[in-house]
Amino acid sequence: MQRLSGSAVFLLFGLLSLIITAAGVAAENAATRQRGLIGLKQFYQTPYYIFDSGRPGPRILIQAGIHGDEIAGIYALEQLLPRLRVHSGLLIIFPRMNPPAIAINRRFFNIDLNRVFPGVPVPDPYEFALAREIYNLVKDNRIEYTLTLHEARTLHNPLRYKSFGQTIVYGIEPPPRLLWSWLQALNKDLPIKEKFCHYYCPQEYGATDVMVRELRLKGGFAVETWRAFDLLRRIDLQQLAVLTFLKQVGLEFSLQ
Ligand SMILES: [Zn+2]
Repeated sequence: MQRLSGSAVFLLFGLLSLIITAAGVAAENAATRQRGLIGLKQFYQTPYYIFDSGRPGPRILIQAGIHGDEIAGIYALEQLLPRLRVHSGLLIIFPRMNPPAIAINRRFFNIDLNRVFPGVPVPDPYEFALAREIYNLVKDNRIEYTLTLHEARTLHNPLRYKSFGQTIVYGIEPPPRLLWSWLQALNKDLPIKEKFCHYYCPQEYGATDVMVRELRLKGGFAVETWRAFDLLRRIDLQQLAVLTFLKQVGLEFSLQ
């Protein structure tokens, strides 16, 4: 075998160190996940996870489990958490917003958490204090977009009031224009029965509408999967909704 000349060896080592440095920079640029807690030592204590890239970009909070029996979104976020790397902006993932309600597999424990926003710091019922903490988390992190993952018992029918299955819900008009490109990307490869449609349905004290209105977010939506589908399929659909949304708002991320 021909021996490498001194300058070739030098070039090879140079190239190798360049590759190693580039890999290191790429790793550094991917935000490390940090864990935070809401309701420390309270009945409703629950973790959230912050991916802060340290680079400019959209600031997003995605939450699931505001209603304790709507479980597909919870699993969808918990499965994405270890795989996600964020390369721009900031992303907060909040997989189990309402642990007492999740523990009993009911929509709520004392009172509907999605009807008490922006909450107040009172000890009882706990839902008011929890809502306040979530509201403050969104405010303190200067969140611009929020998604809340829900599930519905009825498939959407424009003639039927409060039929939420397979919809993207918003409550403040006009919705941001990205809703239309997001829906197009989300529905692109879905069969007709699984396609999502938009649904204007304001909820005066609901988490999404209160935060969009009072904290002047650029956008806030509820993702609603229809419970007639298998749980595994609903988890896939929730993940698809989340990932296509992140792309539409311009967050740079990768999945491991
Ligand atoms: Zn719900």
